[in-house]
Amino acid sequence: MEFGFTDAQLELYEGAKSFGRTRVFPTVLERDPKHTWDREIWLELGEMGLLGAPIPEEYGGTGLSCVETCLVKEGFGEGAEDGGVALAWGAHTILCGVPIWKLGTEAQKQRYLPGLCSGELTGGFCLSEPDSGSDAAGMKTKAVKKGDRWILNGTKMWITNGPVGDVFVVTAVTDPEAKPRAAGISTFLVEKSFPGFAVGQVIDKMGMKTSTTAELVFTDCEVPEENLLGMENYGFVITAKLILGWERSCLLAPGLGGAKAAIDRSARYLEERHQFGRPIGTFQATRHMLAQMRIDYEIARNLVYRVAWQLDRDGDPPLVDAAIAKLWTSEMSQRVFRDAIQLHGGNGFTTEYHVERGLRDSLVATIGAGTSEIQRGIIARGVLDFL
Ligand SMILES: Cc1cc2nc3c(=O)[nH]c(=O)nc-3n(C[C@H](O)[C@H](O)[C@H](O)COP(=O)(O)OP(=O)(O)OC[C@H]3O[C@@H](n4cnc5c(N)ncnc54)[C@H](O)[C@@H]3O)c2cc1C
Repeated sequence: MEFGFTDAQLELYEGAKSFGRTRVFPTVLERDPKHTWDREIWLELGEMGLLGAPIPEEYGGTGLSCVETCLVKEGFGEGAEDGGVALAWGAHTILCGVPIWKLGTEAQKQRYLPGLCSGELTGGFCLSEPDSGSDAAGMKTKAVKKGDRWILNGTKMWITNGPVGDVFVVTAVTDPEAKPRAAGISTFLVEKSFPGFAVGQVIDKMGMKTSTTAELVFTDCEVPEENLLGMENYGFVITAKLILGWERSCLLAPGLGGAKAAIDRSARYLEERHQFGRPIGTFQATRHMLAQMRIDYEIARNLVYRVAWQLDRDGDPPLVDAAIAKLWTSEMSQRVFRDAIQLHGGNGFTTEYHVERGLRDSLVATIGAGTSEIQRGIIARGVLDFL
């Protein structure tokens, strides 16, 4: 077993961290309250090779492994302290780019991947609906084949990059009689220019404000038959299985970096801030909080990189390990930011010290990509099956 990273891998981390710190962090206090999605930053992420981090070079990507993709995302998270940009990047690369790379036909890869890697195209993933979130297979969006087109009708909800996206991986029911329901769902590549596609309500959020979120409406939306992604009726099962490992490592990695930044900020504050004639970091109560933050973060880091390492090795991480990583990391970042605010006292409650934004951004982590309650259910099933 090898726990270390190579020098080249550490350079990837430092490069992404430095880009985040110098190019993204300086404007986050302006962009966050205005809900600004910054296209210039987006194109620079493309130029840096970050938008196409895991995609093979032949399609315009950087060809990083899953572990290396986590490293650039973690480094970016630490440098940028901007959860919204990291979320937009995750939805684009991991939830849209990776399924096209892994499941797409050669023509689909040639058509979409170079633009997604450069940032010329923006991507998203459409699974959730107004009435189906955790019960994703309960979706109502339907696709019916007519001649050489699929006709999609339905509404998708909470779609990251919805207002700014050009191409979306969209799930829809293609066999309403299938049992289980998941075996009657297919996945399609839908472009914003297709007739019948519309951006509905743009959603105002408490956190992740530098990413955009919207409802997308499909009204007799015409999708060419060659835009079916993967196998008819099994698209959802295969896409969900594929995405699972990637989202439970790479999508979590920026949160690790964000938590690390909050721990470092707290440590500095404990040294600088004096009360009762001495640094507040000399009080055992504050030191123990800092120690617990670091312990929680180190556990999360080990869990996330283990999932990424398993994905690189096997192409398929165990469901329970992935659920443990998702649950612990998302709950860890909320605890870390809450404690960082507490350690900063009144200053922690202001925008200037950056930890309140971290808490607001982290709150979605226990909801998106499977809630904590759903993860605990998966973990419990794994434990019971083991008996
Ligand atoms: C900022 C943001 C961005 C998002 N981006 C995307 C995106 O790009 N694409 C996309 O498809 N979706 C996206 N989502 C949607 C997200 O994946 C869902 O919100 C999530 O799956 C939860 O679904 P829900 O909101 O419908 O909650 P519900 O499923 O209605 O859950 C409500 C509560 O009930 C609990 N619950 C439900 N079922 C069970 C059960 N069986 N056992 C125990 N408890 C249960 C949940 O844990 C939760 O506490 C995004 C959401 C947000 C907030």
